[in-house]
Amino acid sequence: MTEKYKGLSAAEFFYKNREIAGFSNPTRALYQTVRELVENALDATETHGILPTIKVMIKPLDGKVMVKVEDNGIGIPPEEIPNVFGRVFYGSKYQLRQTRGVFGLGVKMAVLYAQITTGKPIRVVSSMQNSEFEYEYEVQIDIQHNTPVILSLKVRKKRKGHGTLVELITEGNWFLARRKIESYLRRTAMIAPYATILFEGPNGSLEIKRASRKLPPPPQVGKYHPKGVDIELLKIMIRNSSKKTTLVEFLMENFDGVGKITATKFCEWAGFSPDTKLGKLTMEDLEVLARKMKEYNKWRRPKPITLSPVSAELLEKGIRHVLNPEFATAITRPPSSYGGNPFIVEVALAYGGEIPPSNTPILYRFANRIPLLYDEGADVVRKVVDSIDWSIYKVKFPAPIAILTHVCSTKIPFKGVGKEAVADVPEIEKELTTAIREAGRRLRLYLSKVEKMYAIKRRKVTIEKYIGEVARALAYIDDSSEKVIMAKLRELLKKDIERRGVAYAEEEQ
Ligand code: ADP
Ligand code: MG
Repeated sequence: MTEKYKGLSAAEFFYKNREIAGFSNPTRALYQTVRELVENALDATETHGILPTIKVMIKPLDGKVMVKVEDNGIGIPPEEIPNVFGRVFYGSKYQLRQTRGVFGLGVKMAVLYAQITTGKPIRVVSSMQNSEFEYEYEVQIDIQHNTPVILSLKVRKKRKGHGTLVELITEGNWFLARRKIESYLRRTAMIAPYATILFEGPNGSLEIKRASRKLPPPPQVGKYHPKGVDIELLKIMIRNSSKKTTLVEFLMENFDGVGKITATKFCEWAGFSPDTKLGKLTMEDLEVLARKMKEYNKWRRPKPITLSPVSAELLEKGIRHVLNPEFATAITRPPSSYGGNPFIVEVALAYGGEIPPSNTPILYRFANRIPLLYDEGADVVRKVVDSIDWSIYKVKFPAPIAILTHVCSTKIPFKGVGKEAVADVPEIEKELTTAIREAGRRLRLYLSKVEKMYAIKRRKVTIEKYIGEVARALAYIDDSSEKVIMAKLRELLKKDIERRGVAYAEEEQ
C-alpha cells in the first residue's frame, strides 16, 4: 500500500476549517460577515484620516440574506480588487501599524461562506480618491488553487465620491444574529464616536450619528523592535540588504529606536565586531545574533507611533453617548511592550444612570477598536476584573457598573483567527489591572461624595422637620415672634449645610 500525497491551498484549509475563523453556523456566520465588512470599511477610513460614514444593509431573501456595506474610504486600486477579495492571505495590512485587520483573511472567509452556501459571488464597487472612474467586479474564489475568479467587470465614470461598496448573498439567520449584530454596531459607535453608522435591517433602521468630529491621529508604519526578532525575520531582512552593509548599519536601518551608539554597544556586548559585513555572517552567527537581540535589555522601549489609542477624552464621550450613565471616567495608560511589540491599554468605567444592575461588572472589550463579543470567559480582561475585590471601591453587587477596555497593539495576542479573546500576556494583564484599579479609585471618590452629600441632605430634611416646633417653643420663652425665630433658624441651617458641603469638597482635594 502506498500513501497518496498532495498539498492543501490556504483557501481549501479555511474552507474546511471555517469555524476557527468564526464561521461555525448560520447565525455566527452572518454576524462575522457583517463584522469583517465593517472592520474593513473602518480601516479604509479612520486609518487614513477620513471621518467614517458607514452604511450597513441586511435584507433576508427567502432563506438567504443579502449583506451590503458601503464606506467613504480610500477605495481599492482596481487591479488589486480580484486578489483582495479572492485570495486568502492577501491584503495591505501586513505592515507594522495598528489596524483592525491583520491576517489578510477576513473578507475572504465571508466570500468563501457565501460561495459554498448560496453559490453567489461577492459584488464590489470601488472608487479611489484621485480616480475619475469606478470599478464594479463580481469575484469568487477558486478554492483548490486559492486564486480569484472574475465573473464580471464593469468600468464607468464615477457617480459619487470615493469609497467602496461590498455586497454578498449568504446563508444566515437574521432572527438569531440580530441581537449580536446590533450590539456589535453600538459597541463600534462606543469606541469610534467619530463614526456615523447607518443600519438598515429587516426590523427597521438604526442611525448612530457621530458624537465627535475629532479623529485620533492615524497610526504610522513603523519598524520592528530588536526584541521582536527571530532567525527567519533576520534572514529576510538580511536578504533585502546589501552584503556589504555592516552590522551596525543594518541594525540602525532596520530596527525601531536603534541609533549608532546603541547598535555599537549591543555588538560589543553580543561579541560581534560592529563593522562585520552582513555577507560574512554564517547560520550559526544568525542564530546567536537573534538570541542576543532578544536577551539584550538596554534597547530603547518600542516607540508607539504605530499605535492609535482612542484617547481618554473620546472614550469617555463614547461611553456616555451609548450608556447614558450617571458617572463616567476614562484612562489611557502610557505605552508599554511585550516581546518587542508596543501596546497601550485604555479603560473607561461607567456607573449608574441607564446601566442595568448586574452581579459582576458588564464588560465591553475592544482590541484595536474591534468589539469582542464572544469568548468573554477566555479573555484576560474577565480574569483581571474578576480578581478585583470591588467592595474596596464601594461597589455593592448587584450594581449598575460597566467597564470598557481597549488594548491596541501592532500584534494583539488573540486566542484565535476569529479575533474574540485576548490571551493573558503578563505585561498586558498588569497594565489592565493598573488602569482598572485607577478607574475603581475614581469611582470610589465619586460614590463617597454621593454618600456624603446624601448624608448632608438627610440632615437638612430631618432638621427642617423640627424647625417649626422649636421656633414655637422658643417664641414661648422669648418675646420675638415665631416667624422671626423660624427665619433665623432657617438661616442657621442653611449656613450649616453650606459649611458641611464646603468642608467636604475641601477634604476631597
Ligand atoms: P485584512 O483586513 O486582514 O487585511 P481582508 O481579507 O479583510 O484582510 O481584506 C483584504 C484587503 O482588502 C485589505 O487589506 C484591504 O487592502 C482591502 N479592502 C477590503 N475591504 C476594503 C474596503 N472597504 N476599502 C478599502 N480596502 C479594502
Ligand atoms: Mg479585514
